[in-house]
Amino acid sequence: MLCLMEIAKNAVVAIEGWFDPSPSNPALLGTQCTECSTFYFPREELFCKNPRCSSTSFDQVRLSSRGTIWSFTDAQYQPPPPYVSGDPFEPFALVAVELEREKMVVMGQAAHGYQVDDLSVGMAVELVVETLYEDENNSYLIWRWKPDGASKTSKQAP
Ligand SMILES: [Zn+2]
Repeated sequence: MLCLMEIAKNAVVAIEGWFDPSPSNPALLGTQCTECSTFYFPREELFCKNPRCSSTSFDQVRLSSRGTIWSFTDAQYQPPPPYVSGDPFEPFALVAVELEREKMVVMGQAAHGYQVDDLSVGMAVELVVETLYEDENNSYLIWRWKPDGASKTSKQAP
């Protein structure tokens, strides 16, 4: 049914500063130590955590939007922040992804419509931006991991 009364909501990021929600080129936003080149996500901007490095200088970087599944689990419980999961809580697959370039592991939910049965360790995934939840005025966006090769059009809730 065509709904002409629907009012467009503002799309805002659920966690400010953690990712760029640009539809054409989404990316996680991290930092990289200027001395030892270690990547950080979430951003580290005070002291490098590498014990052999005493740097306090970091570059802002856009992290790889592709990677491979390192591990995954079925989140049947309400996880703590920052993994805001929407209300009411719906079980989802939580994925740990090794980024293509940085070789660091970043957590995130599997893209809407993908459950643990659709995933396997070593599977290639890409970053997508989806709506996490909505209130009266806003749609809150979050990054998720979608199996590569799947349709570019992300599955949306009905
Ligand atoms: Zn360092």
